[in-house]
Amino acid sequence: MVRIKLASLTHAQVGQREAVVLDFESLEVDDLFLASLKGELVFTRVANGILVEGNLNTAAQTECTRCLDSFFVPILVELEGMIGLPGASLSPERPVRVSEDGWVDLAPLIREHVWLGLPLNPVCSPDCAGLCPECGGNINRGECTCTGEELVDPRWEVLRSLLKQNGGD
Ligand SMILES: [Zn+2]
Ligand SMILES: [Zn+2]
Repeated sequence: MVRIKLASLTHAQVGQREAVVLDFESLEVDDLFLASLKGELVFTRVANGILVEGNLNTAAQTECTRCLDSFFVPILVELEGMIGLPGASLSPERPVRVSEDGWVDLAPLIREHVWLGLPLNPVCSPDCAGLCPECGGNINRGECTCTGEELVDPRWEVLRSLLKQNGGD
């Protein structure tokens, strides 16, 4: 839940603005776990709702596609969205609305933006060595005890000797 009180803006004139600083240590938003969420959001009363804009720095937990370890990937969330007034119908363009008592939960909006910012093939580090294809051990953590010999595919061995003959390696 990222609850923000917008009661005064709900009843304000069009053009009225309000800035809110977010500073969360950790946050769970449905299927996302964020290590931090910090930044400033500016809310502007517009004709049919409240516009929210601002940049948030966060780190979302994800899984390395090479070694399967979970790690936090930093993401800059460039948030922009429309908040409905109390009673407004929700839609993909307006996924949240102010409740009758003047609060809004921005979690659905933030979740959507964080998902968009997540890399398609996250890796915990550019030189992550991943898992050994033979024993499945995490090579980064030295869990692989293979000698290395059985890792060589015989077809590669042929190619390697061909390369050697041509002066390369
Ligand atoms: Zn990794
Ligand atoms: Zn191994």
